[in-house]
Amino acid sequence: MAMHRKIGIFGGSFNPIHLGHVNSMITVAEQVGLTTIKVVPAAQAPLRQKMEGPNPEARAEMVKLAIQDYPEVLEFDDIELRRQGISYTIDTVNSYLQNYSSEQLYLIIGADQFEIFDKWLKYGELLAKVNLIVTTRPGSFLPLAKEDFPGKIANMVVEFDGETAMLNTGRVIQFIRLEDYNVSATEIRKRLRTNKSTADQLDARVEKFIEAHKLYN
Ligand code: ATP
Repeated sequence: MAMHRKIGIFGGSFNPIHLGHVNSMITVAEQVGLTTIKVVPAAQAPLRQKMEGPNPEARAEMVKLAIQDYPEVLEFDDIELRRQGISYTIDTVNSYLQNYSSEQLYLIIGADQFEIFDKWLKYGELLAKVNLIVTTRPGSFLPLAKEDFPGKIANMVVEFDGETAMLNTGRVIQFIRLEDYNVSATEIRKRLRTNKSTADQLDARVEKFIEAHKLYN
């Protein structure tokens, strides 16, 4: 039934998409019971320097290659590429709200992004419009108590049992433990520039694509 579908949103620069991203999406889909996850490459991520490396089309192509084994759950969406300019998640969420309700929507981010979530544009509005799923990521920590939530988000928490936080907006924040993938796009770009192996970090099809198009030389 369309009404009961749970829709995940997983955005990123994906410069390039790596196995940490795919591991996160697949684990979250299973543990939270999501019907679909929209995989949304940013045209330009807000809190980052202008991107080095491949153009948006090449980043998008790599996303498609990396998710093609999971067509029943992972769905590529070029909504932010079509919109162009800085990719604010609030704009993307407002678009999805034309087709889905707030109860159905689950924004998925890593713990590194949750630590700075109070820097995201209109984060309070976001936390009223979607549920949030925060995953572990090596090098970052999940909150142990309400006081550990970033900035004023602590004041929005009505109840927190260590796994789920109920917010005063009616939405929830759910924390998910992943198998650790100590991988980052920054580290991968560095390895590619210096001809080190990325076999443990990238999908083989993505690796081939990067090599064929000499994306990070
Ligand atoms: P960078 O190295 O430049 O920080 P990144 O590896 O974080 O890049 P992004 O495309 O910016 O890649 O990340 C998109 C989303 O994926 C973010 O929510 C981020 O927290 C999450 N993420 C990235 N890498 C991992 C990982 N290894 N484990 C869990 N989540 C991750």
